[in-house]
Amino acid sequence: MKRKSLLREEFYKQGYLSDTPVYDLHGHMGPVAGIHLPFCEPEAMVQRMKTSGVRKLVFSHHAALMAPDIGNRASQESVERYPDFLRAYLAFNPHYPGVFHRETDGWETGKKFFVGLKLLSDYHRVCLSDERYRLAWEFADSLRLPVLLHTWGGSGYDGPEQVRLVAGRYQQCQILLGHSCHGDWQEAMALVKDFPHVYLELCAVLDERGILEEMVRRVGSERIIFGTDFPWFSYPYYIGAVLDADIEDQDRVRILSGNALRLIPSLKD
Ligand SMILES: [Zn+2]
Repeated sequence: MKRKSLLREEFYKQGYLSDTPVYDLHGHMGPVAGIHLPFCEPEAMVQRMKTSGVRKLVFSHHAALMAPDIGNRASQESVERYPDFLRAYLAFNPHYPGVFHRETDGWETGKKFFVGLKLLSDYHRVCLSDERYRLAWEFADSLRLPVLLHTWGGSGYDGPEQVRLVAGRYQQCQILLGHSCHGDWQEAMALVKDFPHVYLELCAVLDERGILEEMVRRVGSERIIFGTDFPWFSYPYYIGAVLDADIEDQDRVRILSGNALRLIPSLKD
């Protein structure tokens, strides 16, 4: 039988946690062709965050993933409008290195809005260890920034073998394995054990019940980051899945709240 959880009871009763502010380190924003995302504009997103007790979301605008010059600006504008709720990742597209040079030239201003980098290697069809990513890695490493990766099992672009190469090369930045190498769970956990600057991230992981329990057992809840791809998925579902996993409340508090603050203390501001 599942262990009793005061947090779960509280969330089921009122729809948010009173003493555990949730930090979501993997979100997006804006419409996407081919799918209806009902809460993808900043005001609607912030409203949903408030309802579910999400204190801050770190996101990259959908437009930024392919057209960083347009999309990173949109990300910044939203953070300017909702500084109490939003921070952004600066998205890097290895096909447009010039844009990154321009954007990071103004980093002293940019760092108010951007807390790290977002890399989407699988979609750009460039391996994480490719020379074209060096610029982004060296930047993140020199400033010890978090880098949120899209990682997927079996991918030659951002699967576990590629992550292992870059984690060995760049050890000052913090590497967040978005989707935890989805499906290649064992390799993702091995990476976290081998590299102290690598973290598992839960977006899309929670579609497989039981795996969060195994992650907590094997690598410890200190190395697991909460992320949702919001507005693709809803907070009641994602927070609910963490609360419903058979782990201790202290693990849930680390995953939903404490680990993100340890990685990015400025999220408290
Ligand atoms: Zn994502």
